[in-house]
This record gives sequence, structure tokens and C-alpha cells, in this order.
Amino acid sequence: MNLEVINHLIDNEHYIMEKAADCGLDGSISLIVAQILRDNNGELSSIKGKQIYHYENVIRPLLEEVVCEGPIGFVEDEDGNYESSCINGGIVDDESLYQAYLEEDFKCQTCRYDAEKMH
Ligand SMILES: [Zn+2]
Repeated sequence: MNLEVINHLIDNEHYIMEKAADCGLDGSISLIVAQILRDNNGELSSIKGKQIYHYENVIRPLLEEVVCEGPIGFVEDEDGNYESSCINGGIVDDESLYQAYLEEDFKCQTCRYDAEKMH
């Protein structure tokens, strides 16, 4: 578990609060679950019952399923749907994640590199 990112999420609680609201969950509980995980080195056995539900629905997506915007952001496809221009799986990799949160620039390593080349 990326503790650097968990710490950042706890310090900037709007990420957790918004995600919890999307799921119809009480964000203050999700936040407590995040704190428990941080205080226990990300050890999943430190949470139980409903806390696991908060982890699965609110916290884990913010750690492992953050969508990469792609080097040129979201683009419209032939059917009028907006899709990420990422060609590298569409998920921000763990190594780029902390930087992505810090800069609020959600790109995977490949897209970050591609975007820099374009400037
Ligand atoms: Zn990408």
C-alpha cells in the first residue's frame, strides 16, 4: 500500500470525502479507516467489518484505480464518448501516483513523459 499517498489523502480529505459521497458512504468513517491503515503500515488485517467495505469502495480506488488522463487529456471518440488518451492501461501507476496527487495532474509515467516531449 502506498503510505505516502494515504498520508496525502488524509491531509487533503476532499478526495476521500468526494469518493465516499459518490458511493453513498459516510466520508468521516472512510477517513478514520484511512488513518487506521496509515497507523498500521497499510496492514489490511488492521481493519474489519464495515471498515473493509469503506476500504474497497473509497480508499482502494484512490490508491490503485486512479484514471490516467493521457498525454492530451480526455478525447472524444467516434461515438461521442470521452475517453482517456492514455495508451498505457489507463491507470496511474503506483510510482507516479504521489506526484500526480501533489500536482493534481493524473498521468501515468508513460503519458507524463509523452506530454513533456510535446512541449
Ligand atoms: Zn497514461
